[in-house]
Amino acid sequence: MSEVENYLKRFTKLNALKPGTGMNRVFGSGAYSEAAEDMRQLFESLSMESYVDSVGNVHGIYRGGKKHEREILIGSHLDTVKDGGIYDGLLGIVAGAECVRRLTEEKQELSCDIHLIATNGEEGNELGGTFGSRCLVGAVDTADPVFMQKAAGYRLDREKIESAGYSFDRAAYYLELHIEQGPFLEMEKKKIGIVTGIVGLQRYHIHIKGMSNHSGTTMMQYRKDALVMAAELITYADKLARSYPEHFVATMQRFTVSPNSLAVINGEADMVLECRCSREEVMEDYCREIEAFCSRFGEGTVTMEPMVKKAPVLTDPALIRLGCQICKEKEIPFTEMPSGATHDGNMIATRVPIGMIFVPSHNGVSHSPEEYTSSEDCETGVEVLYQMLLALSGKQ
Ligand SMILES: [Zn+2]
Repeated sequence: MSEVENYLKRFTKLNALKPGTGMNRVFGSGAYSEAAEDMRQLFESLSMESYVDSVGNVHGIYRGGKKHEREILIGSHLDTVKDGGIYDGLLGIVAGAECVRRLTEEKQELSCDIHLIATNGEEGNELGGTFGSRCLVGAVDTADPVFMQKAAGYRLDREKIESAGYSFDRAAYYLELHIEQGPFLEMEKKKIGIVTGIVGLQRYHIHIKGMSNHSGTTMMQYRKDALVMAAELITYADKLARSYPEHFVATMQRFTVSPNSLAVINGEADMVLECRCSREEVMEDYCREIEAFCSRFGEGTVTMEPMVKKAPVLTDPALIRLGCQICKEKEIPFTEMPSGATHDGNMIATRVPIGMIFVPSHNGVSHSPEEYTSSEDCETGVEVLYQMLLALSGKQ
């Protein structure tokens, strides 16, 4: 049995890595604190200097380098969603631990230190997702009294949040191995995804103004039915999204129609259009086409107000090349792909170049007790991470 499998069992308290058991290392829970201390002890047992910082991120520093080069960060999150799976987050941390174990076993000489970080609160929580990594980069607004009041509920004050800041001048790169959380790799029969970026997101509030009237007396040719226009728009938006390159997704959400009564033609419809892509210009182009389509309903009938625009995050081109090169040399079936989900990398990429490796999620399932990635696939991911680490720590 592999060490990675052992580590996964240790933190999931499972005798066998069978999917179907929910993990509950939720932000702010006792289960999280216990796991954080256990992770610290694992780091310590692998000859790392270890500590849990003031917001619950766990650090392990392996002093490998004779020279004082900038360190390489390897991380992922230790918290889970409620009833989450075994592999989400945890795999990336134990993969880092296994890399350090192998470095010592193989007595590899490094030019730099390796710094493992298991982050807290990456999943959505009351203080916002990627909380631990936002503290590391210093992106938490401690001047916001509403936020600080919520933070106080988790025994966090300004000093604790600010002292968790990490000085990124010390770091050369950040690497993360993560499960894909989607079906792409499995469908494409690939073992590794070299992540090209984390997709951006745009959301628009769409309002359709029709005319409400009696559904018995209003002849079809005199109607302006908001629900029917919405149906046309929804179908078009979906069809258009499918004509875009793979990895572009668009979804209609939070639909309401009014008055939504018997014997009445609907006069108004509201919905949210969300699209995600790793290229901002593609999202802009899609939204222009949607607007052009809406104009067919007559001027002023459809309004489209931007709600959220989150820019995509790019991973480092040199790290993408390195990951691809390693997969080619090792004859591992791989593909380049964007990440459709947010990660700690979103925050960390603002300070240091990041590289991410994906391994397949069986049936594309994640954030569920049914989440599963085979041990062989986990091992392949660890191998690519290890080879990247060796390449980077040898020649900075
Ligand atoms: Zn995750």
